[in-house]
Amino acid sequence: MKMEDKKTVLTGIRPTGNLHLGHYFGAVGNWVKLQNEYNTFIEIADVQALTDNFNNPDKVRKNVRELALDLLACGIDPSKANIFIQSRIPEIAELTVYYSNLVTIARLERNPTIKTEISQKKDIFGNNGESVTYGFLGYPVSQAADITAFGGSLVPVGEDQLPLLEQAREIVRKFNSIYGETLIEPEHFLSKIPRLKGLDGNEKMGKSLGNAIFLVDDDDTISKKIMGAITDKNKIKKDDKANPDVCMVYYYHKLVSQNNIETICKECKAGKRGCIDCKKELIENMKEYLRPIKERRKYYEDNKELVDNILKNGTNIAKTKAEYTLKKVKKAMKIDYFE
Ligand code: ATP
Ligand code: MG
Repeated sequence: MKMEDKKTVLTGIRPTGNLHLGHYFGAVGNWVKLQNEYNTFIEIADVQALTDNFNNPDKVRKNVRELALDLLACGIDPSKANIFIQSRIPEIAELTVYYSNLVTIARLERNPTIKTEISQKKDIFGNNGESVTYGFLGYPVSQAADITAFGGSLVPVGEDQLPLLEQAREIVRKFNSIYGETLIEPEHFLSKIPRLKGLDGNEKMGKSLGNAIFLVDDDDTISKKIMGAITDKNKIKKDDKANPDVCMVYYYHKLVSQNNIETICKECKAGKRGCIDCKKELIENMKEYLRPIKERRKYYEDNKELVDNILKNGTNIAKTKAEYTLKKVKKAMKIDYFE
């Protein structure tokens, strides 16, 4: 298949910290598969990260590189996918300005993802969101620009992102209805685990929730974290029967212990499996599962220049594509003077 016949996958991730199992099973693991079939663009969303980290530029800067390393470690292959840096593509910012006329403030304020995130970030946005910035409220608009700039028709994300994608679809429809068919309406693509739970049983494993296993965690840290994971609280003695469905250890066994999962489940239910032994088994399997990821990371860590070139190259390719889209958009909007 020729490159131009392939559909385009666009997805993004914010450089706000290292990747954890939630990112891997909810999103990035999927991208690794999709890169074989689609034209794939992976955005390191530094502009978006600054919307709620504007007061911490060092954090964003440092994590651009960390994120590139994590993505490559997960198996993103630079010969198949373009990893690029959002702020290096000013066309996205320009598209954002044009799209901002197509969405109401009330609609942005009603967006469930935005509402949740504002309430989670009381330290910057105030208890009732009274200090929310124009930039943060508008980031779904810039996300619509991210997607459409590259003609993304498939957007593989975790479940928390769905309302943002719906917002992008609305903007595309509005644009096309006013200015004529120009933009591609994107569709979401969820992984089999659209929302991975945290070690504490929380519905979402999150970077800042203290409930994550990071891909860069060393063996000791992994052991400690798994030892502290919540299990069925009604199981007190080693030979008590338990319910694996309320146990986070079993939940993660399902990810990394597939070949033994039925036995684990049966033994747990029958009271033939102590929680400590079960955790130890998970620790070993988890370490084994993460080993190739860590090895790839080490390779790229030792080849700094290679990583720089991967980012430069991916960004150049992305820029050419975004320039093309912007040209089409300006023509449709009749602001293509002197062209
Ligand atoms: P931040 O707190 O900075 O927003 P984040 O952990 O939510 O960080 P993002 O960069 O916003 O990370 O998300 C990257 C991708 O990973 C998104 O597609 C998101 O849906 C997905 N993702 C993040 N956490 C999980 C999770 N626990 N389960 C499934 N998918 C997840
Ligand atoms: Mg997020």
